Amino acid sequence: MKRLLILGGTSDANKLAAMTNEMLNLATIYSLAGRTHSPNIPLCEIRTGGFGGVDGLVNYLRAARINFVIDATHPFADKIAANAAEACNRINIPRIKFCRPPWEPNEITWISALTYSETVRKIRTMGERIFLSIGANNLEAFSILSNKWFLIRAIEKPIHPIPLKNHNIVFERGPFDEIQERTLLTNFRIDVLVSKNSGGPPAAKLNAAHKLGIPIVVIEKPMPPAGKLVFTIEKSLDWLSNQT
Ligand code: NAP
Repeated sequence: MKRLLILGGTSDANKLAAMTNEMLNLATIYSLAGRTHSPNIPLCEIRTGGFGGVDGLVNYLRAARINFVIDATHPFADKIAANAAEACNRINIPRIKFCRPPWEPNEITWISALTYSETVRKIRTMGERIFLSIGANNLEAFSILSNKWFLIRAIEKPIHPIPLKNHNIVFERGPFDEIQERTLLTNFRIDVLVSKNSGGPPAAKLNAAHKLGIPIVVIEKPMPPAGKLVFTIEKSLDWLSNQT
């Protein structure tokens, strides 16, 4: 029996693991960072917690006798993606990075930023009430905007305090539809939406903000590490079938 490690933490990773777990002669191990207390998990073997950097991951891959790795982490989870690439290269384990195609502007347009600090510079003059829809981590760069008010959305109470002077936090787990997003944007009188370019089908918040005439700032996804990139679950399964 061959063994596949899926680095997860996204809904696509979940779907993929549920499918690979049905494949014959293949055991799927699904890995989570362990940030969420009650994560959505697929029906397969689950492991939780960091590996301890590249060396830790190499040790794990050897000890767990992993034959293939699919990195299906969120496109902004760049540390684990880099670690997975380096660890797999070091011990010659075939790996792909699954990555949903990024959102492209069409009738919905936005202002792009490449980093958090660029986002800060761009929203400085844009409005007072910001829906900072990027989760509850990596908020430090925004703390210098002490005259702004921020809405944060998270699945559960963050471990670290929110480093923003004026903010409100709502606890909700997606996916959200356009009516929910419109209600949120309206109830909190949002002036600007900031979102990561998470890729896949355009998020309902983009449509809702666009229709309400709320400007959107999108933080574009970081470059994935070198190696094979796969944009759909089907292509990931094809790759796997060719390996086994
Ligand atoms: P990150 O910055 O790339 O990773 C930080 C550290 O967390 C890694 O070095 C690794 O620790 C550990 N880690 C991350 N993902 C892991 C996984 N799937 N299994 C085991 N260890 C993992 O990651 P992040 O941005 O904090 O994201 C953490 C998790 O949340 C990921 O699974 C990701 O898919 C999910 N997520 C992230 C976002 C986002 O916007 N970043 C959004 C939705 C979901 P060690 O070095 O000790 O191995």
